[in-house]
Amino acid sequence: MLCYDCAQQGKDVDTIGICILCGRGICKEHSVREDLPVMKGEYDVELECGMGVECSTKDMQHLPQMLCPTCHKVVKENY
Ligand SMILES: [Zn+2]
Ligand SMILES: [Zn+2]
Repeated sequence: MLCYDCAQQGKDVDTIGICILCGRGICKEHSVREDLPVMKGEYDVELECGMGVECSTKDMQHLPQMLCPTCHKVVKENY
């Protein structure tokens, strides 16, 4: 998968993870690792699947907890 934010800038960069909130691919540069003490049930987790990709929150559990810059901003603003 390619980093969504890099793609916006016309760059093809492989992802190292997936945003736990929106499901976008994020590269090392764009990933934000954050302890989120209010994650449990506080947010609507809606994964943007499709494009032939089947996924669920269950599938996401083994992934590192990462946020894309957009979701990180939203989370910070809602603290
Ligand atoms: Zn990127
Ligand atoms: Zn996100």
